[in-house]
Amino acid sequence: MVEVTPSTFNALMRFTTRPDLIFVRGRGSWLWDHTGKKYLDFIQGWAVNCLGHCPPAVVEAIRRQSEELLNPSPAFYNLPAIQLADLIVQNSCVDRVFYANSGAEANEGAIKLARKWGGIHRSGAYEIITMDHGFHGRTLATMSASGKPQWENLFEPKVTGFVKVDLNDLTAVKQAITPKTVAIMLEPIQGEAGVFPAEDDYLHALRQLTHEAGLLLIFDEVQTGMGRTGTLFGYQQSGVEPDIMTLGKGMGGGLPLAALTAKEAVCCFEPGDQGGTFNGTPIITAAGLAVMKTLLEPDFLPQVRHVGDYLREKLLYLSQRFGCGEVRGKGLLLALNLGRPVGGALVTAAMENGLLLNAPRPESLRFMPALNLTTEEVDHMVAILEPLMEKAWNAV
Ligand SMILES: *Cc1c(COP(=O)(O)O)cnc(C)c1O
Repeated sequence: MVEVTPSTFNALMRFTTRPDLIFVRGRGSWLWDHTGKKYLDFIQGWAVNCLGHCPPAVVEAIRRQSEELLNPSPAFYNLPAIQLADLIVQNSCVDRVFYANSGAEANEGAIKLARKWGGIHRSGAYEIITMDHGFHGRTLATMSASGKPQWENLFEPKVTGFVKVDLNDLTAVKQAITPKTVAIMLEPIQGEAGVFPAEDDYLHALRQLTHEAGLLLIFDEVQTGMGRTGTLFGYQQSGVEPDIMTLGKGMGGGLPLAALTAKEAVCCFEPGDQGGTFNGTPIITAAGLAVMKTLLEPDFLPQVRHVGDYLREKLLYLSQRFGCGEVRGKGLLLALNLGRPVGGALVTAAMENGLLLNAPRPESLRFMPALNLTTEEVDHMVAILEPLMEKAWNAV
């Protein structure tokens, strides 16, 4: 039995506010804390446990791999890394995969690849047009690429070379293009901003614009990739193919796995340009391979769309009942606009009642459950949330 005292967490560096709980066990859509309390988990490691907690396919894959080979070194090939890259390439528009350990690192790689390509093909152009409220990670370059207002003056000086425009504003992009521009980088759906999709027409127009201007189109699919939107990759919703695509979050089924992927014509790294000690180790790519094989099972993505539609219906019902705003997003990346700033209070009350939710903005709730959750679990979530909303609405 784990005991929590006032000093339990003293050795951990503080970077955010967390409840005085220790999570000790997870299975599927359920998570248990050190007191034995059980929670229905609609956060799932921040949209990371795409098959839920401790999915048997992933647990078995890493158990078997752990008995064969943990890490031969990044200077040598290993089998799961090759097999997973093959599956990604066979099932997407990209031709090559570079593994990373986090979404931020994958995006750093995308920025480096675009700058390298600009050096070769665009007489040294290096500027990347990115989106206001976009989120690309927490390294210095990816923070600079992000459009989070709270980061505007943090950790100065910024990495230069990023120009911000509003999402879905094509004219703003056209006006931002200069001879120094090399790429446009965005999320097909802005996740951390609160689930704001790029419009299909806008994405098609960006693709045409980048073709005409000789620029690269980079999709940050760290959140929208790996089945989250109901298709294997988010770009397949609009049919607009990027030149560079980054993946992360769900890719390792809970383990730290991410990737920088690109079309052949863009792959211009030379020896020494890119690398990493832990990148593409067999123990982690074995987990990714198990995830990918599961997502590719014929019934898997149709079921994601089915449960996604079911969740959307329930959120629309809540919105109608309480006079909230729109339901945003696709597949199982959905947000409910509450219409009032009660998101934080609802998240706290939900946790007390055994439900883990996220409020990316004070007036929205985001839902990022396991992709294999059941409609019964959706019903269970609503059964906890609805009375809490009733209470919150009556209180005002
Ligand atoms: C989470 C996220 C990142 C950062 O990934 P980390 O693994 O936390 O570095 C980057 N881009 C998007 C779109 C994300 O959702």
